[in-house]
Amino acid sequence: MTKFSDLKLHPDVLKAVEDAGYETPTPIQAGAIAPALEGRDVLGIAQTGTGKTASFTLPMITMLARGRARARMPRSLVICPTRELAAQVAENFDTYARRVKLTKALLIGGVSFREQDALIDKGVDVLIATPGRLLDHFERGKLLLTGVQIMVVDEADRMLDMGFIPDIERIFNLTPFTRQTLFFSATMAPEIERLTDTFLSNPEKVEVARAATTADNIAQSVVMFSPTRKDRAESEKRGLLRALIDAEGDACTNAIIFCNRKTDVDICAKSLKKYGYNAAPIHGDLDQSKRTETLDGFREGTIRFLCASDVAARGLDIPNVSHVFNFDVPGHAEDYVHRIGRTGRAGRSGKALMICAPRDEKNLAGVERLVQREIPRVERPPKVAAAGRGGDADRDVKPGRRRVRTRKQDGREEALASAGAPPVPVSSPSPGPGGGKARSGDRRHGRRGEANDNRPDSKVVGMGDHLPAFIAMSFKERSAGYTDGS
Ligand code: AMP
Repeated sequence: MTKFSDLKLHPDVLKAVEDAGYETPTPIQAGAIAPALEGRDVLGIAQTGTGKTASFTLPMITMLARGRARARMPRSLVICPTRELAAQVAENFDTYARRVKLTKALLIGGVSFREQDALIDKGVDVLIATPGRLLDHFERGKLLLTGVQIMVVDEADRMLDMGFIPDIERIFNLTPFTRQTLFFSATMAPEIERLTDTFLSNPEKVEVARAATTADNIAQSVVMFSPTRKDRAESEKRGLLRALIDAEGDACTNAIIFCNRKTDVDICAKSLKKYGYNAAPIHGDLDQSKRTETLDGFREGTIRFLCASDVAARGLDIPNVSHVFNFDVPGHAEDYVHRIGRTGRAGRSGKALMICAPRDEKNLAGVERLVQREIPRVERPPKVAAAGRGGDADRDVKPGRRRVRTRKQDGREEALASAGAPPVPVSSPSPGPGGGKARSGDRRHGRRGEANDNRPDSKVVGMGDHLPAFIAMSFKERSAGYTDGS
């Protein structure tokens, strides 16, 4: 078995690896480090969680330890699809280059150009950037890429999903033909293959098996969800999400909740917050300081539920995530693998629960084909105390929409509909045909949306003296900290 000491890494890098507590190189490291140190191009087919970041940072630090950067001419370049990934790669450099004198700059959106310019002006050994921001700097004439000796493209398949391939091609063409390229992608789509055929020269191909999604340490399940009322499908689904969370009890120390759409990320987080869950959204439309603050909060445990889009959460290395909830079945089966891989890291156990609406069934079949196993179906959990407030009270949660007013009714306050939406009728006729279903009139009896629950034994429960906290909150308080996804 390969040892780190066999890999001809700089002695100070080896010490840093030892400090990090790594005993043996992971397969991608064992395969990529030696050819990279020989100056060869590397095509790494590996996904996050395999140790791929160290597989390019360790040889880069070793190679860059000698030599010096010139003003505005970085010696190496790492391109990442998202700001978070770029920041994570920068952290890796800090960890492994602790004992080596290297300068680096992080060029990501949301950070002032002036600070970044100052660093580049001095000259940096490593420039870590997202494609858009890098090209912005280039176009402003503040950066020359002709001194780049090593270029890394990280998570190329995600770049493809995000429409960055033309930018990447442009960046490749701005760097010297003689550069060394280390290129990483979890999958090899035809477009990616075209890119590597064009820009890599006789690369060493290192392919690492997909992280085992059937790993015993991640318990997976799916709840098949069909709404009782089409017009309340989304709020019923959010009610089901809360029921799933509640059923996990204290075992759910924290969780990432994945939604397919950014608007749902916002709605989910806002809805959970309203029900007293400590949740926050993260997606690409939030400004950088908010994203960083949210991620830090989740890492430190001040935020328990992170509602996320695939893009924002891709590649994030957050240890100790006890649960992943898939609010939707992802459209790309690959994303399922990435999503559930956020839990059960480093051999810990984890749990991944998914909600599958009728329209998601095709996606579910795609996921099961990819992971080559059937994901166990489980029933909707029986209600537990905290779930009791049910599903339709948040029917008017929409991103960027405001509640307009509240009104006292029958000695209680009832949240009224959002701006533009018709107010909820409060004195409705007795249930007509199909009265087993929750109707707006049920609200009068304090039945706040167990609309999904039409089991014969389900009871209409009044709120009694209990006044949910969110109802008493002013609009200002309720919207504080919530950033519109637009
Ligand atoms: P990555 O795939 O780069 O996101 O790395 C995933 C995690 O594996 C990170 O938390 C690294 O700190 C960790 N890691 C990287 N290399 C090793 C190694 N050789 N042994 C143990 N853990 C590692």
